[in-house]
Parts: sequence; C-alpha cells; structure tokens
Amino acid sequence: MSIDLSAPPLPISFEVYPPRSEAGVAALHETIRHLAEVAPRFISVTYGAGGSTGGRSLELLSHIQRETRVEPLAHLTCVGNTWAGANALIREFLDAGITSFLALRGDPPVGVAEEDVYLGDLESAAQLVQLIDRVQAERAPYTEALIPGHPGAARVEKRSKVDIAVAAFPNGHPRALHASSDIDALLAKQAAGATLAITQLFFHADDYLGFVQRSRAAGVTIPILPGIMPITSPKRLRRVLELSGEALPAELAIALEVEPTAEGQREVGIAHAAQLARAVVDGGAPGIHLYAFNNHDTVLAVLREAGILAHPSQKEAAR
Ligand code: FAD
Repeated sequence: MSIDLSAPPLPISFEVYPPRSEAGVAALHETIRHLAEVAPRFISVTYGAGGSTGGRSLELLSHIQRETRVEPLAHLTCVGNTWAGANALIREFLDAGITSFLALRGDPPVGVAEEDVYLGDLESAAQLVQLIDRVQAERAPYTEALIPGHPGAARVEKRSKVDIAVAAFPNGHPRALHASSDIDALLAKQAAGATLAITQLFFHADDYLGFVQRSRAAGVTIPILPGIMPITSPKRLRRVLELSGEALPAELAIALEVEPTAEGQREVGIAHAAQLARAVVDGGAPGIHLYAFNNHDTVLAVLREAGILAHPSQKEAAR
C-alpha cells in the first residue's frame, strides 16, 4: 500500500503514540478499530526521543497492519543513533513490511538541553529522509522496461515504493534562526526525497494557509497536510504550548478557562478544532491530519462537526 492523497474522498489521517503501559494497549487497539472505521489514509505512530519507544512503536504499527486495512506510518527520529544504527533501524521497519515513514530530527530526551550533543550521526530530518530513500532503493528489486524504438534494449531501474513524510512548521520552529529557515528546511527535505509534509499544530487557519502560500512561492510542491489538535482542557493547552513553542491563542484559552465542567471544555475544544478543519479545507488543504491522543471519540467528533465525515464519498470509502 502507499499513500494517495489525490483520490476522493477528502483524506483524513490520525496520529497515535505507543501506550506507556500494558493496560493502555487494549484500550488503544479499540481506539484504532474505531479510527479504522472511517477509512483514514494512514495512522501514524510516534517514536520517542532516544528510541525509548522504538520496539513498542513497531509493535503498534504491525498491529495496525495486521488488524486493519489502514496504512501504518512510522515516525523515526535522528536522536541518539549512529549512521549504522539508523540504517539497521530502517531495515528492521522495512523487514516488518512498513513502507511509510515520517522522518524527524527529534527533540532532546527529557533532561537533555538543546545545546548538549544528543542527536548522533544524523543531524537533520533531511539527512534521515535521504537515508530512508537510499536504504529502500538498495533493497528494491530491479525492474526492466524495454526502451521504445530499441528492440532488445532494456532500461534497468529501481522503483521507489516508500512514502516519506516530514514535519513542517507554519509558525516557525521554536529554534529557527529566521522566518524563512523553516521553508528552506522544507525545501531541503523535499530535495532529499520527501513526498508529503505534515504540519505542527496551529490555532488559526491563516497560519496554515499563509505558510502553504509562502512554501509554494519558494518551490515546495509536495502536499502539505494540516496537523490539527483538539485542545480539550486548559491543562492540555499549557502542555502543548510548552512542547511546541506556539503563541498563546487567547480566545481559545479564555473559552476553556471560563467553562466550568470538563465536558463543556471538551465541547469548546471540539468546536474550535472543527472550525479550524473546515476553514483550512475551504482554503484548499489536501486533507486533515488529527492528533488523536489515543482517543477516538474526540477526533471523530471534530470530523463530524466539521461536516467531513458526513460526506457521502467518505461513507462509501469506509465500507
Ligand atoms: P529539521 O527539519 O531537521 O529542522 C526543523 C526546523 O528546526 C528547521 O526548520 C530549522 O529552522 C529549525 N532548527 C532545528 N534545529 C535548529 C537549531 N539548532 N538552530 C536553529 N534552527 C534549528 N519528535 C519526536 O521525538 N518523535 C515523534 O514521533 C515526533 N513526531 C512529530 C510529528 C509532527 C507532525 C511534528 C510537526 C513534529 C514531531 N516531532 C516528534 C517533533 C520534532 O522532532 C521536533 O519538532 C524537532 O525539533 C524538529 O524536527 P524536524 O524533523 O522538523 O527537524
């Protein structure tokens, strides 16, 4: 399988993370079953800093592959790996039948500062993209095609069968030195072989639409999927701002703070994410990628409220 964003209905996809305990495994399998029912183009599985969840990440990807018809997409990072180690890791995933990746630089593990050496031999996502591309090309079978007009002469080539997604930052990476460096980084990832970009969360449709416009003007041609995260409590908002370095979305923050119940806060978060999803789709987004936090109810409610799940072609695809 590979990821085709061009065919209708509007592509949707989800991100989950490997459960931190055995107890979480059964619950996540149930979540995946529900997510698979709406026929997402892929479900991506995060990869923890330092490779700490590497094994569990592959287990979960294999579960998606075995139990659903959904394409599993593996996040991989550069953190703490030698070139040979990264090479072996990519082979392990390919051997398990995983052919879609999200190549990331990765963040420092907990307790390690950005200035400390934590990456390993690979220092940027673009280098990891190149390595995945190279490893799979070495393994891909040669195919022969006759050259028209030259009977008997054959062109021998290797066909790429992997999809390589990369991260993009509509409001800039928190450590970017200047505003254009994120688009330069995306261009480098595209040149290295990336076939798709997925954005960091953002809170205003114009952040995404403006970024896509600037990326296109600079020569980025790969699809850029908007990453949308339903923020269902003030606590989650504080946590994601801390991790992503995004600016505080004042209106959403106030709406969450004044809501007295957890259920009311959840509704605020769903309504905000649904509105955002609708606005970026109306603005031309090629699909919607939702950060699911290992829970299906909230992201499916967002898609329903945005009118995306109600579309007849979406129902047809889910059959
Ligand atoms: P790169 O493309 O190599 O760099 C990204 C940007 O960082 C560049 O645009 C550049 O402007 C800037 N930059 C980076 N370093 C510096 C520096 N030292 N000085 C100046 N500018 C700098 N992390 C995980 O560990 N596991 C995951 O599973 C994971 N999943 C993610 C999924 C998505 C969709 C996104 C958006 C992020 C995810 N991350 C994950 C976080 C990601 O690893 C970090 O944001 C990381 O800091 C950058 O990764 P990158 O692949 O974009 O790196």
